[in-house]
Amino acid sequence: MTIGANNPELKSWVDVPPGSDFPIQNLPFGIFKTRYLNAVAGVAIGNYVLDLVYLHEHGYLDGLGLPAGIFNQKYLNDFIALGKNTTRAVRNRISELLRVETDELQLHKAACEIALVPLAEVQMQMPVFIPDYTDFYSSEEHATNVGSMFRDPKNALLPNWKHLPVGYHGRASSIVVSGTPLHRPKGQVKLPDSDLPVFCPTQKLDFELELAFITGKQSALGKHITTAEAEEYIFGFVLFNDWSARDIQQWEYVPLGPFLGKNFGSTISPWIVTLDALEPFRVQGPAQFPHVLPYLATEGSKNFDINLHVLLQPEGEEPTTVCRSNARYLYWNVNQQLAHQTVNGCNVRVGDLYASGTISGPSPGSYGSLLELSWNGQRPLQLANGIQRKFIEDGDTVSITGFAEKDTVRIGFGACSGKILPAL
Ligand code: MN
Repeated sequence: MTIGANNPELKSWVDVPPGSDFPIQNLPFGIFKTRYLNAVAGVAIGNYVLDLVYLHEHGYLDGLGLPAGIFNQKYLNDFIALGKNTTRAVRNRISELLRVETDELQLHKAACEIALVPLAEVQMQMPVFIPDYTDFYSSEEHATNVGSMFRDPKNALLPNWKHLPVGYHGRASSIVVSGTPLHRPKGQVKLPDSDLPVFCPTQKLDFELELAFITGKQSALGKHITTAEAEEYIFGFVLFNDWSARDIQQWEYVPLGPFLGKNFGSTISPWIVTLDALEPFRVQGPAQFPHVLPYLATEGSKNFDINLHVLLQPEGEEPTTVCRSNARYLYWNVNQQLAHQTVNGCNVRVGDLYASGTISGPSPGSYGSLLELSWNGQRPLQLANGIQRKFIEDGDTVSITGFAEKDTVRIGFGACSGKILPAL
């Protein structure tokens, strides 16, 4: 599929500094507010947010069949529910308005001053209301590392792992937008030298580097979304930090899986990068053997070449990059995840979030959690200025960044960042 707005030759009259996550080929959607404006929808371009309410109210988006007030809302759900034909037409129209060779907005200086808000002056909000959230476990390297640590290095993957994308239903209510601090959670922990659990703040607080997709179309209860249909349902992607309390998790997880070790908070990046914008960055995923059941079969390039980095910054210190991974390593692709999620007739809703699971690569520097990077605390990480970490300490900030790059075009996500405050 060729999408005009993705053309690497396009240039914008809005200044886009080198290394920006938001060139004219990206145009991700988000919700922002300022000191003077309530939360409304916008699109990122360079160091600015383009105010979609202003564009819509002043006729720049006429002829696209948009309902009145569609962007004057605190969430994007109603907009993305209009369907891909509409959201794609809006992205194409914004691309047109921002091109150097187009005068309409560029020459209307008064309009530009109002419609372009400096990113430094906005507070980004949750982009969507998330009705339901699933977390998968789709990285073979991550599942192998965790299985080796907690069970048996010779049988690290459980027998089901290569036959289905393992997942669990997470907690949507505690998903927060980048920049929101979280308190260290407390819970039951069983220390190795004791038979009984104690109640205390977690001593093994961790991040999980993940990529998540957001659905833009609902399905009926009973319907199965096939792998071929899946992309019609996927609006776009965000970065996702699935904060995890490893000691709480290890004691509670048998037999039903993650619970309070996970649901105290998860952080997403504020801009939804559309599936359309990521089309040029498709790559083949790992070969799948044994062969998957027919309902999980996919052909062609279903993975995405997205560089993913994690930075850890102690209070008052400089950040250190502790992980360099890539979404291309995922064993199970998003088409398979959505097909599996719905194969029993489970319905999806607009705004649902489906996270990949921790994305670890093959080398130790690409492991997507401190559990793996420090090998459960056995090998402390060296940060800048002689600081060491086994797990996250109070005052630490964890930031995930992500970008795809090709033909001098860099499609980025903006930061997915959060600071850990002491336990309450
Ligand atoms: Mn996870």
